[in-house]
Amino acid sequence: MAAEQIAATAVEELNPFHIVQQEIRQAVEAAGLPAAVAEILQEPARVVAVSFPVRMDNGEVRLFRGFRSQHTFALGPTKGGIRFHPQVTLDEVKALSMWMTLKCGVIGLPYGGGKGGVICNPKELSQGELERVSRGYIRAIAAFIGPDVDIPAPDVYTNAQVMAWMMDEYSQITGRPVPAVITGKPIILGGSLGRNEATARGCVIVIREAAREIGLDLQQATAAIQGFGNAGSIAARLLSELGVRVIAVNDSRGGVYNPDGLDVAALVRHKQATGSVAGFPGSQPISTEELLTLPCDILIPAALENQITAAVAERVRARIVAEAANGPTTPEADVILTAHNILVLPDILANAGGVTVSYFEWVQNLQQYYWTEQEVNQRLEALMVKAFRSVYSTYREKNVTMRRAAYMVSLARVAEAMKSRGWL
Ligand code: GLU
Repeated sequence: MAAEQIAATAVEELNPFHIVQQEIRQAVEAAGLPAAVAEILQEPARVVAVSFPVRMDNGEVRLFRGFRSQHTFALGPTKGGIRFHPQVTLDEVKALSMWMTLKCGVIGLPYGGGKGGVICNPKELSQGELERVSRGYIRAIAAFIGPDVDIPAPDVYTNAQVMAWMMDEYSQITGRPVPAVITGKPIILGGSLGRNEATARGCVIVIREAAREIGLDLQQATAAIQGFGNAGSIAARLLSELGVRVIAVNDSRGGVYNPDGLDVAALVRHKQATGSVAGFPGSQPISTEELLTLPCDILIPAALENQITAAVAERVRARIVAEAANGPTTPEADVILTAHNILVLPDILANAGGVTVSYFEWVQNLQQYYWTEQEVNQRLEALMVKAFRSVYSTYREKNVTMRRAAYMVSLARVAEAMKSRGWL
């Protein structure tokens, strides 16, 4: 092998778009599906790249850039969140939309995948600027979305308030109220009860099912969580309610560790008051790398992509890795975790609770009849357990990783839809 080639293979592939393309190709082959399925899914069906001016509080005009990727319409309209982050790229948004297709397929939702992103740092924007960015982005993509075309939702650094502005802007453009154009809205505007905690709740349901399979007693278990946003902080609370000791968490500003278990409710209050988990009384500081490699039973990456690299994976000492984030484990790291007998609950299963309750929200908006929180949670429980069962049995029967099994289950559905449409 030439020196450059050796160097190239030694560098881990970290472009999520290439990673998901390759995962799809391999899973289509492993599942014995027609090669045309992988061919069709290699690129999003439609990608919109936009730029839009926003007047900042100091009177200056700044141009913002954003994207919306709509992966496939084989199963129905596309669905997926909008991310506000300084490192958003087109390839990242494309990859995230492809993961959404796979996620919807695992659960059996009547959607293809979509994803949007705006390159910005919401932490540096005032509320007024954030509102104008949110509305500006929706004006720019309005012609390409709609309740039966593409339905956005929250993602990294966007929330119910951002969804409210976006829904309002879209409704003003179309001249009628359109709650079903976006999910993750405030309850008063047609949001669903249970949506806010759905990603974490779904994740904890699959952890519970997996723990049962491997004989892990949650009452005796410990967990470390990377990321303390919507998914991470609520997963911490729900796990501690099940008797799990949450021993370490972090966020973008720092991490905290207490081997006896952190008081999650107090930690949430500390973050609300100070903006970070860092400096939580009674805890020791911990770096991201230390957190990811801490001896514990359950490790939950709940932040961004490519956090568990090959080098980190060598030192992961958890029994279960539950991917609340999208794409947190690199393919090389995946191989290492599997070799070390660590059960990886893949993102497209482990964090699918969010889009599942988004689907419930959309259904409630369309029928204009709203369910109780208990009904929402029961339906979520039923779909998550069913999805876990089918992925887990494929994993056992086909002797593949849980990720490959989840892809196989999902792609079989997408392929069936394509075949029925006459695409194959
Ligand atoms: N952004 C979330 C995800 O990555 C939720 C998407 C949705 O609710 O449509 O799954």
